[in-house]
Amino acid sequence: MGFADRAKIYIRSGKGGDGHISFRREKYVPNGGPDGGDGGDGGSVIFEVDEGQNTLADYRHVRKYCAGDGAEGGKRNCRGKNGDDIVLKVPEGTVIKELNTGKVICDMSGDMRRFVILEGGKGGNGNQHYATSSMQAPRYAQPGQSARELELFLELKVIADVGLVGFPNVGKSTFLSRVTNARPKIANYHFTTLQPNLGVVDMEGGQGFVIADIPGLIEGASEGVGLGFEFLRHIERTKVLIHMVDAAGTEGRDPVEDIRAIRSELEKYSPSIAARPQIIAANKMDAVSGDKTEVLDKLRAAFKPEGIKVIPISAVSGENVKELIYEVWEILKELKEENIVFEPEFFPMEDSLKMSEPFTVTYDPEEDEYVIEGPRIEKMLGYTNIESEKGFVFFQNFLKDNGILQQLEDLGIKDGDTVRMYGLSFDYYK
Ligand code: GDP
Ligand code: MG
Repeated sequence: MGFADRAKIYIRSGKGGDGHISFRREKYVPNGGPDGGDGGDGGSVIFEVDEGQNTLADYRHVRKYCAGDGAEGGKRNCRGKNGDDIVLKVPEGTVIKELNTGKVICDMSGDMRRFVILEGGKGGNGNQHYATSSMQAPRYAQPGQSARELELFLELKVIADVGLVGFPNVGKSTFLSRVTNARPKIANYHFTTLQPNLGVVDMEGGQGFVIADIPGLIEGASEGVGLGFEFLRHIERTKVLIHMVDAAGTEGRDPVEDIRAIRSELEKYSPSIAARPQIIAANKMDAVSGDKTEVLDKLRAAFKPEGIKVIPISAVSGENVKELIYEVWEILKELKEENIVFEPEFFPMEDSLKMSEPFTVTYDPEEDEYVIEGPRIEKMLGYTNIESEKGFVFFQNFLKDNGILQQLEDLGIKDGDTVRMYGLSFDYYK
């Protein structure tokens, strides 16, 4: 079974281009001023709601999405080119989560149509910015900011006011097609049988609500196979649930047992969903042979004490269907609730780790020194005139921005300890 409403992907923003170090070359002037250009900014990763999409199928085929890196600055104050952004289109209702923690980053619903999830790294300043009266030939430039990466879990949770749940063949689709005007925008949710079907019920005065026929219950579930509640995440946003049962018992199911099974599963999954208003549609009343009140009495005896109304209907003949719709409408009007939106719990620009830089921070017990190593550090040292005050401050900021100071502290460094990198040693002071 493949569900096109979930996907795991990897995203990466673009690294900022490094600032450049160069000097003007003019005729008869042996040493011109610094003219190293700034690096370009890295591209961002952006999510956008696309009304035309209703599955996450695209993200099951391509799983890696990288924005472009900014280019390095050039000579003659030439700024490096910016990296391209990457825009990921998703259906409305997609919830973006951080893969490892499962925390919500953004819910692409309601007013949230566009979300910059990872900003590209800023390009670094070229050495043209660092000339001062005392330092006319600065041999350092700022490196571009790091790229950032994230692993994401995308989940489509449909947006509907009312969820229609029940075992297969109880008449959900029949009911939905009778009561709704499927609008073109949502009409083609009919992708697979596991895709929820949405329809709009029009009420007077231009008002109305959206019902989702939520599939996913596995037949034979009550025999202990497990209910296969793929549909649970789709009812997370619904405010009211209609339990539909086959009151005629045409497939030998017991309506009371079926509703009990679904309700206990709901309770396990989310007590807050289980506590939402519910109503029972006793369908196929036209096919009930014998005493019609008997089956209704049983249902009412079982669920009335829990505050759940039972409405007999026939989705095929249309009998009492309007009455059910009005009952649901009354509940919705009373709720007057805002749409259910998942609040962010994870903030990528603060919480995501920067792209793992190729550097290591270790403690060397023999020398009693802390050692920083990595090609990027080496490049920085080559750039920077640590002897100058400005250069030193700049280098310190580099260590801080890249989390190196934090790592030194994590290793237990104290004021006065020695830090070594590529033959250069200095004393650490906070
Ligand atoms: P779903 O699996 O819950 O979506 O059920 P369907 O809407 O596909 O209906 C399953 C079968 O039950 C179909 O053959 C329908 O024609 C039939 N059915 C649905 N509603 C009624 C009803 O009110 N009365 C009768 N007699 N049959 C119905
Ligand atoms: Mg169906």
